[in-house]
This record gives sequence, structure tokens and C-alpha cells, in this order.
Amino acid sequence: PSRSEIAYFGAGPAPLPTAAIEQSAQAFVNFQDTGLSLAEISHRSPTANKILSDAKDALATLYDIPTDEYDVLFMQAGGTGEFSATVQNLVGYWIEKRRRKAIAELGEGKDAEVLDRVKREVEAELKVDYLVTGSWSLKASQEASRLLGAKYVNVAVDARKSNNGKFGKIPDEKEWKLTPKGSAFTYYCDNETVDGVEFPGFPKSLESTTGAGEDDDERIVVADMSSNFLSRKIDVRKFGVIFGGAQKNLGITGITVVIIRKSLLSLVPPPTFLHALSPVLPTSGALPPIIFSFSTIASNNSLYNTLPIFNLYVATVVLQMLVSTFGQKKVSGQEEVADRKAALIYGALDAHPDTYHVVPDKSVRSRMNICFRIISGTPSDGQVVADEAKEKAFLAGAEKRGLLGLKGHRSVGGMRASNYNAVLLESAQKLADYLVEFAKS
Ligand code: PLP
Repeated sequence: PSRSEIAYFGAGPAPLPTAAIEQSAQAFVNFQDTGLSLAEISHRSPTANKILSDAKDALATLYDIPTDEYDVLFMQAGGTGEFSATVQNLVGYWIEKRRRKAIAELGEGKDAEVLDRVKREVEAELKVDYLVTGSWSLKASQEASRLLGAKYVNVAVDARKSNNGKFGKIPDEKEWKLTPKGSAFTYYCDNETVDGVEFPGFPKSLESTTGAGEDDDERIVVADMSSNFLSRKIDVRKFGVIFGGAQKNLGITGITVVIIRKSLLSLVPPPTFLHALSPVLPTSGALPPIIFSFSTIASNNSLYNTLPIFNLYVATVVLQMLVSTFGQKKVSGQEEVADRKAALIYGALDAHPDTYHVVPDKSVRSRMNICFRIISGTPSDGQVVADEAKEKAFLAGAEKRGLLGLKGHRSVGGMRASNYNAVLLESAQKLADYLVEFAKS
């Protein structure tokens, strides 16, 4: 089939705008009549630098990034890489702040006393807070435990506990158990791709920019936006770090975007100090491999090593298209489209409650990953029973109509329609029409 006959709802990698594919394909074959493929051009060339600065400019425009306070980094190793990098860099920042304070108070040359004091502070005070609301934040929290040791990781929320052992709801903020004295950072995943759970907005408990207690400690919020990147307006100033892999809403695999408050780049502990701290904190907890060091990547304009410029170019093309499509509305323009598409699909599901069951709670339904089951009636005890034979038939019928990529994640089952930015309104309409047709049949 031709591309125009297909509506693709894959969870990631995900569809790209057709015009972006065509422009990128041309760049791969012969970039701007240079006779060279963009994939053959040096990452240190003026061409590559221009692509990099165009990407930064477009992203800053779309998200209203205050560029005097925030930096944009392009990294590799995906969202998973950032599970590790955020821990190591931000715990490093936390330690360096305390090391400098100890030096200021105890005086230069008191290395043993400084080390001793920071060791005691680490043992008594170091915590990282995780809101575990789905499989990806769970993975991120597990990585934090692996790098730091579990005793430093506070799972402030485990959404499964109040939902029969399954993800699908975000507990009321009153039930969250954030570290009372403040943490090195608070981590959450804004949109849980597997479970179809999205935070309705920025959590109120994390609003204040200062930490929960200790003198000058700032609150540092880290958000994984891999699967709802550039799909709604955000206030960048509320975040210390925002990250996301490009392969869902932005481009192709191989590029990870990190938006980071510049002040977090300035404090990096000396490796020898971290080695000496290791009896209380594993070195892996605060000493990133050089390729994951935010300050190194930032001070080298994301070109510390060979950045995949072709992959970056695809994202740049998409970003520039978003800027020109939505003009003054910026990301709010994309948000309106995303909301309309999600309303079409949820509308069709909700209109047929005897056929469809939306997996997550209504209060946290994701606009990006719409997870649903096909049921054979709801038994009296309220337990939903999925009808796997009907689900198979649904998927087969969908495929015949060119509606692809709808099979749910193996851990949740059923169906998942991923409604990322490049999914056209017409595609969402086609799916909604098929949902109605299937329910009637
Ligand atoms: N975070 C979220 C929300 C995701 O959906 C994914 C992948 O689907 C990841 C992180 C991991 O990303 P990657 O595969 O780029 O490491």
C-alpha cells in the first residue's frame, strides 16, 4: 500500500510527517546539492552546526524556553540513558553543593574533615524521590536503586498500591510521601507510554521552586516527556531537567533531547572526592560516564563526540515544520490538535461501553497512548473481562482498513492507539469510525 492508504498508530518508533520523510530522504541522498549524503558530513562542519542551532532555536520558540536560564542538549542512548544520567549528574550536583559549603565553613586544606562531613550528610540526608505511576517511571526508579543503592531512593508514590496492583491511576497528591526534608530531585514520567497514564498537568505539590525544608535547597523536578514531548504547553521554569527520545513526537531514534536549567551544570564534584566517598555512596551514583556528563555535553555544544547529524536533521525538519504550521500559537497549536484527536478516539470508545473498556482511570487518560480492551460484558462484581478472540478480530479488521500498529504492549494486552504529533486528524477519524463500526457489528 502507499503511505496515504495507511494510518499508523505505533508506540515508538512512530510516524513522521510525510513531508519530513521526503525532505530527509533527499538529504540522505544528496544534501543541498553538495553531492554528499548528510550522513557523510562532519559533525564539526558549519553545516552540522547550523542544523544544531536551527533545532535549538525552533525548540526554544515552540516551548518558550528562557534561553538565558536553560540549555538544550542533544544526546544519545535514549530515554533509558537519561534514567542513569539524571541520577548521576543531579546527585553529583547535590554532593558538590555540600562539599563547597563544607570547604567554606571549615576552610581550605581540611580535606579529611570536609570528606567526613559530606559522608555524614550523604548518609543522613541524601534521597531521590520517584513518583512511580507506570512501567517507565518504575524502570527509572530501579535504575536509581541500581546506581545509588536502594536506601537512597524514596518511592514517594507507587500507583499500583491503590489500584489492585496495576498501574492506571495516579493517587491523590495528599497521599504522596515526598521526602519531608527535601530530595536531590523529584522524578516523574509525564506520560506513561505502556499504561496510557498521563499527568493532567504539573503536580501541585512540586510547584514551589524551593525544596521542602533545608535552607537554600532548591526543588529540582525531573520529567520524562519521551512520549508526550511537544504535545502541550508547559512552563519550562518549573523543571530542572526535561528529557525525551526523539522517536515518538519529534524524529527518529538516535537523538535524545535534554532541556536543563543552566545552574545545574555548574557544580560538578571532583572524581577523586567521589572515589573517597565510596564507602557511603557507590561511585556509580554520582560519577557519570563522560558521555552522560551534562556539563561536558553542554560545554561542547552537544558535540563532545560524534553526534548523529542525520538523525538530528530529521528532528530539525520536524521542529521547523511545527514552528511554521502553528505560528504564534507555538506548542499550544499542537496541543489543540492532540486534544481533538484524543477526543475523537475516546469519544468512540466511551460511546460503546458494552464493547470497549478504557484501561486507565478517566482522570489520567493519556492523550498520546490510548489503551483499551474489548470486553464481553461486565460481570456483576465489576471485574472487566477482556475477550481476546474479539480483540484478534478487531486487529485483523483494522489491518484490512490500513489502521496499523494498534496492538497493545505485552504487559497490558489489548489495544493501544498511539496518537503522537504526526498522526493526522484524518487518521484519528478513521480509527474512531472503525471503532463505531466494530462495536455495531
Ligand atoms: N520513557 C518513556 C516514557 C518511553 O516511552 C520510553 C520508550 O518507549 C523510554 C523512556 C525509553 O526510551 P528509549 O527506548 O529511547 O531508551
